[in-house]
Amino acid sequence: MRAETRLFLCLKDNYGVLLHDPDSGATASIDAPEAAPVEAALKATGWKLTDILVTHHHGDHTGGIVALKEKYKCRVVAPAAEASAIPAVDETVRESDKVMVGKLSGSVIETPGHTNGHIAYWFHADKLAFVGDTLFSIGCGRVIEGTPEMMWRSLVKLRDLPNDTEIYCGHEYTAANIRFAHTIEPDNAVLAARATQVKQQIAQGEPTIPVTIGDEKLANPFLRADVAEVAASVGLAGKPAAQVFAEIRARKNRF
Ligand SMILES: [Zn+2]
Repeated sequence: MRAETRLFLCLKDNYGVLLHDPDSGATASIDAPEAAPVEAALKATGWKLTDILVTHHHGDHTGGIVALKEKYKCRVVAPAAEASAIPAVDETVRESDKVMVGKLSGSVIETPGHTNGHIAYWFHADKLAFVGDTLFSIGCGRVIEGTPEMMWRSLVKLRDLPNDTEIYCGHEYTAANIRFAHTIEPDNAVLAARATQVKQQIAQGEPTIPVTIGDEKLANPFLRADVAEVAASVGLAGKPAAQVFAEIRARKNRF
């Protein structure tokens, strides 16, 4: 049976998401921004929490871990490079490590940049990737601990996933990201279509994620730093993609 997911808001604009294996009953929370919304989602679905898969150490992704672990005795999986900054870790993982949620098989993709130990979880057979604060829809995370070069390489790793991979990210920032993306690619028709879709989703109170990698590739300027038109639009025609990415990220920080 296919994996099931349930998405919900936490804190101000964080997303929580549950990943459920219908065969075994196992359920993972991807990050744990705060306990109460995770518990509410578990109650609404009738699922039992067995695992927490942590993407990075920031408090708005880890604040609920201790309370949830105490209540559900679940396993906490976290990036090896940040385990000392994350509470109650049972298992640490690195690049390409396998992570099972019941019978669902995931693997770890190291995506440093936002934080230096940031990881994503990719469930290949289920066409799902949980990318934390590395990639957002039409945006990307701030480069807080790493370098722009590091972040660009991480984004390319995610961009290389199959086009039909559904991406779950850590925040609902899509509308603001689209306003910025228009300044980089004002004539991008795919971006314009996405803007219309997002306006409708928000008006109807719906989340703007998940999105597919295939769609993001065509509209997210942070995944397009190696497209000639994008480089030219920020005055860096012919320059290395990492440099173009750094310029786009710097402009977004000032936007
Ligand atoms: Zn973060």
